[in-house]
This record gives sequence, structure tokens and C-alpha cells, in this order.
Amino acid sequence: MNATTPVESCSGSAPASQEDLAQLRAEMAQMREEAKRMRDEAEQMKAEIAQDRIAMSDQLSVLDDRGGQWSDYLEIQGLHVEFDGFVAVDNLNLTVEHGDLRFLIGPNGAGKTTIIDAITGLVSASGSATFRGEQLLGKKPNDIVKLGVGRTFQTASVVEELSVVENLQLAEGFRRKGRELFRTTGAASQNVTYMMDVCSLTDDADKRAGILPHGKKQWLEIGMLLVQDAHLLLLDEPVAGMTPAERLQTGELLKRCSKNRTVIIVEHDMDFMRQFADSVTVLNQGTVLAEGSVEDIQNNEEVVRIYLGGGE
Ligand code: ADP
Ligand code: MG
Repeated sequence: MNATTPVESCSGSAPASQEDLAQLRAEMAQMREEAKRMRDEAEQMKAEIAQDRIAMSDQLSVLDDRGGQWSDYLEIQGLHVEFDGFVAVDNLNLTVEHGDLRFLIGPNGAGKTTIIDAITGLVSASGSATFRGEQLLGKKPNDIVKLGVGRTFQTASVVEELSVVENLQLAEGFRRKGRELFRTTGAASQNVTYMMDVCSLTDDADKRAGILPHGKKQWLEIGMLLVQDAHLLLLDEPVAGMTPAERLQTGELLKRCSKNRTVIIVEHDMDFMRQFADSVTVLNQGTVLAEGSVEDIQNNEEVVRIYLGGGE
């Protein structure tokens, strides 16, 4: 019994090994199939990755080096404003890029405020003014605000009876309609809290806006533009009437704002301009007299003769 066992097992295993071979072949064919399928899948994944790369580089190409979009700039072409035949802005061209802190200077009556009025829909104008590729001319002021364009006025236009936080909530809710606009919610949103901090107003959150010193009213107004998500800020003489310390703080605030926004400041204070301007446009009689860095402007003989030398 002991002798037959291995024979039996041998004779039993001989035909079985043929089957094994066939099975092995079948398995190998299956594995080859599987490998081919995996190769095909890998090829497909490679193609998808290549496609993703292209899509990603398309997405990156619209972002500038500050993480904003290249289209976040203001482009004014042939802007023209007349008041009863008097030309206040004369076929003006002006481009202000994202991340720029541009100062607009010029003698009284040069047309600085009128330019801001024209691009915020307060006076009618011909020509073109686009921000993020959207035409601003011909639109209503509210619709222009919704395109991310915000302005301040020389005299702060905060609601004096409401607190700082309520003013910000009101500004934040501007996209709401009708009665809802005035429904200020209890707790301040993250956005309001953050912008209050940015504008150094946290300690004044519950104070009535009317009792704030002039400087802080202007900061509140800037804060209102920020909570509205304005990406083009147009500021008409923001530091007029401020103390030197307030001017410095305002300049620093605007410098921070301009990092990922487009900021245009109309200003008379030349020291303030020298300290904070990235670039300067000098206007005279509704047209651009000169444009460049602070240094370029200060060395421009015509600018010195017409404006800087005029002792304004
Ligand atoms: P700036 O802000 O550079 O001092 P403005 O833009 O306020 O100058 O004014 C430019 C010119 O247009 C000035 O001569 C001014 O008198 C005139 N102007 C501005 N607004 C009006 C208006 N609503 N009606 C008539 N003339 C105006
Ligand atoms: Mg003005």
C-alpha cells in the first residue's frame, strides 16, 4: 500500500499537469488581457492628466502675480464729458492695473471728480470705461457697484444715526432687495468683523457713526466699500481734513487694500502722494498732462510749471 501510493499519485498527476498547463495558458492569456487593460487605463489617465494640465494653465493664465485676475483693471478710452458745451473731460485715456495705487492729481477744475462721477454713473459720458471687461458707461450707479466698483465722496456719506457695525451690515446687504436692505442682522458676519479689523474700527463697533472723528468716518466709508466686495476703489480726496497721524494710517490702509485691488485716489496733498503712490496721473483741463512714477512726475518740467510750481 505504501508502494502504490506514490505511483497512483504519479499516474494521477500526469494528465492533471496537461490540464494545469492549459489552465496556466488560460490564466496567462487572462493576465495579458488584464495587463493590456491596465496599460490602456494608464494611457487614458495620462491623457486626462495632460488635459488637466492644459485646463489648469488656462486657469492660471488669468491670474496675475498677486492672485487676482488679469482682467481686474480699469481701462478708460476716449472718455468725454461736457456740461452745456463746456468740456470737463476731453477724450481721456487712462489704464489702471490691478494692484496699482494710482494718484490722480491736477489743479482745481482739471476734471478729476468728473472722471469718477462718469465711471460711477453719476454724470453721463461718451467713450468707454471698462472694469473686468465690463462696460461701466451707460449703467445705473447701483449696477456699477454690483460690478465691484466703489467710490467715496469728499464728505463721508455714512449713516450717522447707525453704529459702525450697522453701517457695515447695511453696506454688506446692498445686494438684497427692498425692505430686506434695511434688515440688519444681529451678529456681525465674518466679513464685517474682518473688515472692521482691517479698518482699525473694532473698538468703535457699537459707537454711533455720527460721533466718530472725521478720519474714522472715512475709514468706515472705505470699510463699507470693502464689505461690498469692491475691487476698484475710487477715493475723492480721502485724507482732506485729517490729522497727520490719520493720514499715515489711511495711507497704510489704502496700501494694504491696493495689494489685491485697483485703487485710484484723487488727492491734493503732495506729501501724502509722495509717500504712498505707486503711480501718478496728472490731469489738466480734462486731459492727461503726464503719467508715471512719483519721480517722473516731480521731474516733469510742464507738471512743475502748471501744477506743482503753482503752489496749490
Ligand atoms: P476737479 O475735481 O479736478 O477739481 P471737477 O471734475 O469737479 O474738477 O470739475 C471739472 C470742471 O467741470 C470744472 O470747471 C467744473 O466747474 C465743471 N463742472 C463739474 N461739474 C459740473 C456740473 N455738474 N455742471 C457744470 N459744470 C461742472
Ligand atoms: Mg474734485
